[in-house]
Amino acid sequence: MSFREGNECEESKSVSQNESLTNSQLTVDESLLVDPKLLFIGDKIGEGAHGKVYEGRYQDQIVAIKVLHRGSTSEERAALENRFAREVIMMSRVHHENLVKFIGACKDPLMVIVTELLPGMSLRKYLMSIRPKQLELHVAINFALDIAKAMDWLHANGIIHRDLKPDNLLLTANQKSVKLADFGLAREESVTEMMTAETGTYRWMAPELYSTVTLRQGEKKHYNNKVDVYSFGIVLWELLTNRMPFEGMSNLQAAYAAAFKQERPSIPDDISPDLTFIIQSCWVEEPNMRPSFSQIIRMLNAFLFTLSPLSPPLPSEPDNDEPEAAATTATSNGAITEFSARNKGKFAFLRQLFSSKRTKN
Ligand code: ATP
Repeated sequence: MSFREGNECEESKSVSQNESLTNSQLTVDESLLVDPKLLFIGDKIGEGAHGKVYEGRYQDQIVAIKVLHRGSTSEERAALENRFAREVIMMSRVHHENLVKFIGACKDPLMVIVTELLPGMSLRKYLMSIRPKQLELHVAINFALDIAKAMDWLHANGIIHRDLKPDNLLLTANQKSVKLADFGLAREESVTEMMTAETGTYRWMAPELYSTVTLRQGEKKHYNNKVDVYSFGIVLWELLTNRMPFEGMSNLQAAYAAAFKQERPSIPDDISPDLTFIIQSCWVEEPNMRPSFSQIIRMLNAFLFTLSPLSPPLPSEPDNDEPEAAATTATSNGAITEFSARNKGKFAFLRQLFSSKRTKN
């Protein structure tokens, strides 16, 4: 299937990079538009609440094409057009190896977002495909690091994603790393507004994003980029357990349990205390007590170095003519032990940091 010939994308007013995305009428800069005549839609590869995703081709590139729903009433159409423009503007600003690369967009004849194709399926599908098995620990930590690096970049650039969950994490073709997709809910940090999320997202969402507690008390709703850290804590728990968070509860029950009873998924005993500490610090109730993504990256890297290598190198020939190889092995083992001791120190430092914060609050 291809787009009908002869349909030009609508010419729109430009939105400068620094202009706030709170404007009621958002428009997409012309430079971000692709020529629909050069876009060909192939098989459907995914579907979300806001549209269907197809494999396709743009010029000579294989791409993913997200075709967004248009809505039936005029209010619905306006809201969805705004969401589309917001997602396009947001995507065009983000550039990182762990963020899905934006290629272009088109408003007519369909609202379309073209991105690089990630053929390795979503993290959600991947986890389900291996269930009840768990990910190998190195793989889980490397995925967690990919996600943390993408989030760190977003936060450093003043963007809150607000929808971090395994459906929005896509595996690369070799299934060795993940990239973050779906910027439909992403916002500039300066913008504070009520969330209208799909209930299916509540399991991963920080309670302060959807809970009405503060509103009932008549306070202004407020949250910060630590909402993404909470979601990361839930995703890390999933990477390590390969279970559904708040298993056996409906979406609303899960939201209620997290927000009003401060419940969190239970952490199995076989998870290392260092990882348990990272998960629990990410989903603590008080947002400002949660670590930043740069701290999370440091903690994950520190933990990774305490693990033995994934596939130990084959022992070198027992040949005394090769003292260098023997020395290297010895040095590398020694270095790992030394590193792990040093990292225990780092964890102790971070623990202290959190407990001193806790005492102050
Ligand atoms: P949501 O319900 O989270 O709002 P959505 O309607 O905004 O979803 P996406 O989450 O962007 O849609 O995409 C839906 C699914 O399509 C993803 O879970 C994934 O399986 C697939 N998908 C999206 N983008 C890509 C891509 N670039 N490459 C491969 N598959 C993709």
